[in-house]
Amino acid sequence: MTKQEMEEHAGQYHSFLGKAQSSLRSQDFRGAVAFAVASLRFVDGMMQFERKYQGKEHAKIDAIEIIFRFAPYLLDSDSLDSAAELLKSQRRIAKNTGTDLSSALDEARANLWSAYRVWDFLENRGECDEATIRRHTGLEPDAWDRVRTKWEVMRLLRRRENHPASYFSLSLQMAVTVLAKCPRCGGSARGKRVTFLQKVKCPKCAAQEFFAVLSPELAS
Ligand SMILES: [Zn+2]
Repeated sequence: MTKQEMEEHAGQYHSFLGKAQSSLRSQDFRGAVAFAVASLRFVDGMMQFERKYQGKEHAKIDAIEIIFRFAPYLLDSDSLDSAAELLKSQRRIAKNTGTDLSSALDEARANLWSAYRVWDFLENRGECDEATIRRHTGLEPDAWDRVRTKWEVMRLLRRRENHPASYFSLSLQMAVTVLAKCPRCGGSARGKRVTFLQKVKCPKCAAQEFFAVLSPELAS
């Protein structure tokens, strides 16, 4: 890569990262992960440029951190796979990063598994107390705590206190019918919000894509 190419990659990376961070500020977690994934192919060039010409050491890679922090709780294994693929094909990224990216990836995969267990259980069971959730999902207390706190921040989980126990259910928002748009052809589809946490097949162009969810008000 020439110096100019590296500089361009650095620019692209920071532009996508900025979009990811601004999505996080507006609580669009799916959008944040998507922008972080879009930045991945510029990570290597960005690091080379900043190391060589700006003397910068990378203690961590913010875009990869966003993916590891949020994708597991969106049950988004595709985005984890994209990050894993990058780390495998461009080994100097992990080598030149201060944090241990490979154990962070393992942790993210474990968190996705925990989130999936809880999701699957609550979807079938409806509202449930904490002890029962843990018993049925087999999660260790700290694994359950990670899922619970993250989903509360992401407003995917609803909590009701009924002394002496706390009861949890998947957020009603997830069952709301929304209108969503295909990023490829602009075609729209209607369905429960939870449906669009994963890639769906576009009824118009047949692409498998993450749809952009419009607000429920627009769907009614
Ligand atoms: Zn489409």
